[in-house]
Amino acid sequence: LVRLRARLSRSQNALGKGLLTLLSREHLDEDTWEEVEDTLLTADVGVQPTQELVERLRERVRVLGTRTPVELRGLLREELLTLIGTDMDRTVKTEPVTSKPGIVMVVGVNGTGKTTTTGKLARVLVADGRSVVLGAADTFRAAAADQLQTWGERVGAHTVRGPEAGDPASVAFDAVKEGKEMGADVVLIDTAGRLHTKTGLMDELGKVKRVVEKHAPLDEVLLVLDATTGQNGLIQARVFAEVVDITGIVLTKLDGTAKGGIVVAVQRELGVPVKLVGLGEGPDDLAPFEPEAFVDALIG
Ligand code: GDP
Repeated sequence: LVRLRARLSRSQNALGKGLLTLLSREHLDEDTWEEVEDTLLTADVGVQPTQELVERLRERVRVLGTRTPVELRGLLREELLTLIGTDMDRTVKTEPVTSKPGIVMVVGVNGTGKTTTTGKLARVLVADGRSVVLGAADTFRAAAADQLQTWGERVGAHTVRGPEAGDPASVAFDAVKEGKEMGADVVLIDTAGRLHTKTGLMDELGKVKRVVEKHAPLDEVLLVLDATTGQNGLIQARVFAEVVDITGIVLTKLDGTAKGGIVVAVQRELGVPVKLVGLGEGPDDLAPFEPEAFVDALIG
C-alpha cells in the first residue's frame, strides 16, 4: 500500500494537486469550474463522470461557504472515492468455484502488458504458497511463449506451450489438463490480442473460453488495459466485453501516466472493478487496486 502510494504519487498527483489548487481559489467562478472540468477530462475521467463530480463538488463547496484546505482535501477525497467506488469486490478469484485448479484467463490487446501481468500474478500466487501452471496461449506473437516461460522459470511456475502459430485453444486446454494432473492450485492462461481482425479475435478467444470450460468454468477473466492509451483503451474494452465476460480489469503502466482517471471511465464502461494495477516492468510491480491509496496518491 505504501509502495502503491509512492509509485503513483510521482506521476499521478498532478491531477489531485491541480484540483485542490483550483478549489482553493477565493472566488470559484464559471471559469474555475471549467478548469476543474478540463483537469478531470485531461486525466481521462470521462465526460459523464466529470459532470457528475463537478456538480457534486459545486454543491458541496457552496454549502461549505468558507473553505479551509483541510476541508477541501477531505471533500475532494470523499467525492473521488465515491466516483471510484469503495464497495466493489476487487479480489482476484483464483480459488476454484468447482474443483481445482482455479482458472484465470488474461485477455487484452498485444503490447498492453498481458504477458508481464500474467508473470507478475504468478509470482504473487507462488509467493503465497500456491502452485501455478502458465498456459502460453498467445501463439500469435512469436516471442510471447518464450517470454512467459522465462517468467515461469523466474517465479517457479510450470509453463505449458504449443508449437509456434499453433492453436491457442488447444494450448489452453492442455494447460488446464496438466494443471489438473499436477494438482496445481491455479492455471493462468495468457492469450493473444490482435484487434485488427475483430472477427478473428472473437472466434479465437471464444474458442479458448469454450475449450477451457470443457474442464471447468473460468473463475476469472482479467482484461489488461494500458493506462497510457486513454480513450483508446475504452474502445478495446468494449470489443473484448463482446467476446468474453470480463470479471476484472488490470490497468498497466500507471507508473508512466498522470491519466489515472481512466480507472473511473473503464469501470463505468464495463461495470466491473479494476482489481490490479501495473506500476512498472519488474516482478514486484503489480499491486491490488486500493481506492483509498489511489486517491491519496492523487491528492498527495
Ligand atoms: P503483451 O503483448 O500484452 O503480452 O505485453 P507485454 O507483457 O509483452 O508488455 C509490453 C511492454 O510493456 C513490455 O516492455 C513490458 O515490460 C511493459 N510493461 C508491462 N506492464 C507494465 C507496467 O505496469 N509499467 C510499465 N512501465 N511497463 C509495463
